[in-house]
Amino acid sequence: MTPSVPLPLILVVNCGSSSLKFTVLPVAGGAALASGLAECLGVPAEARLTIKFNGGKHTEALPEGTHDAAMAAILADLEKHGLLARIAAVGHRVVNGGERFTKSQIITGEAMIEEIGSSPFAPLHNPAHAIGMRAAFKAFPKLTQVAVFDTAFHQTMKPEAFLYALPRKYYRELGVRRYGAHGTSHRYVSGETVRLLGLDPHDHGVVVCHLGNGSSATAVVNGHCVDTSMGMTPLEGLVMGTRTGDIDFGALAYIAQKTGLDVAGLDKMCNRESGLLGLSELSNDCRTLTEAAQRGNAQAEETLDVFVFRLCRYIGALTAALPRLDAVAFTGGIGENSAYIRGKTLKRLSALGLDLDETANAGMYGGKSGIISKSQKPVAIVVPTDEEKVIAADTAVLAGLVEGSLA
Ligand code: AMP
Repeated sequence: MTPSVPLPLILVVNCGSSSLKFTVLPVAGGAALASGLAECLGVPAEARLTIKFNGGKHTEALPEGTHDAAMAAILADLEKHGLLARIAAVGHRVVNGGERFTKSQIITGEAMIEEIGSSPFAPLHNPAHAIGMRAAFKAFPKLTQVAVFDTAFHQTMKPEAFLYALPRKYYRELGVRRYGAHGTSHRYVSGETVRLLGLDPHDHGVVVCHLGNGSSATAVVNGHCVDTSMGMTPLEGLVMGTRTGDIDFGALAYIAQKTGLDVAGLDKMCNRESGLLGLSELSNDCRTLTEAAQRGNAQAEETLDVFVFRLCRYIGALTAALPRLDAVAFTGGIGENSAYIRGKTLKRLSALGLDLDETANAGMYGGKSGIISKSQKPVAIVVPTDEEKVIAADTAVLAGLVEGSLA
């Protein structure tokens, strides 16, 4: 009998300014073999790496506190667990690819890394992705590395959906337009919704609600994004953990005039001090607010009502971009787990023909997927997201490890 050849693996990297998340997935699909998080990078005294392998978990200090040190420690651990030699390609999550990157792409070298790192539209995230790419190239100089862009899925939006009604020169000269975010999640969840419900891949209309600490909703027609709630940055759209979502600039101008807040102060207030946190004066965390609301905290309940109302408004608006609404899909930490938010949302959407199934909704949490409406047209469904799986799949295709084309 010939010994079985170990199957190749993909290393998926998601690099932030002070963190580096990784997952090791089989090219053939299936569960992660290892995963981990390096955090507090840049603060040598606190930097650490936590790795999960085979049901176990361990944490080690990273005294150098750099991304390179984190990557080296990940390599050493993968080697220890016998996985390193099986890594066949590396996939990187990238928050913003602008108009230039409309699909996942092989990273061709330093010029492309520099281009990705200097994107003006994700000044906090993209430079960190470039750091992660350089560290990965140092660690795996011979492997194909692929960039998977969170904005790519939204690049099928037409000008009618992506242009702001600003003087056109700001789009022409500065690229100011709506790019959207969470695209990898929206792509996966819309695809899974079509598959699970047996919809026609070439004839469907779906609204995907990715609800987490950051939230966005997208209208998908026949596998293509036609509208999304986030804008040039992730600030636009739904109410989020600490972000306002849609806000009248006139209100901000008035606040600035009355308080003396400058642009940086307004930016901080809108991105970090608003949303669920700002309105509840309690927490940015949906679960904490739900528990408070259920204990009778009126301000927490009202905050969640604002969250739900805005979400319903968006589901209605996004439906207007579809030829027909076949399904509303919920995903993300809140979408996958909060029966409270999903229930309140669906009860408000009878005008769209949605009818909540209370029992199914109450039982849908913790990674389960399934239908939560009595109505069949449209259907409401919960679909746990899996961005790593999409990144690994695109990486495997572009690295020539599997046959196929990018979705
Ligand atoms: P994410 O950013 O996708 O990780 O989602 C984080 C959000 O999901 C936080 O607001 C959590 O409170 C929320 N969340 C997670 N589990 C639950 C739950 N069981 N009920 C309500 N919210 C939840």
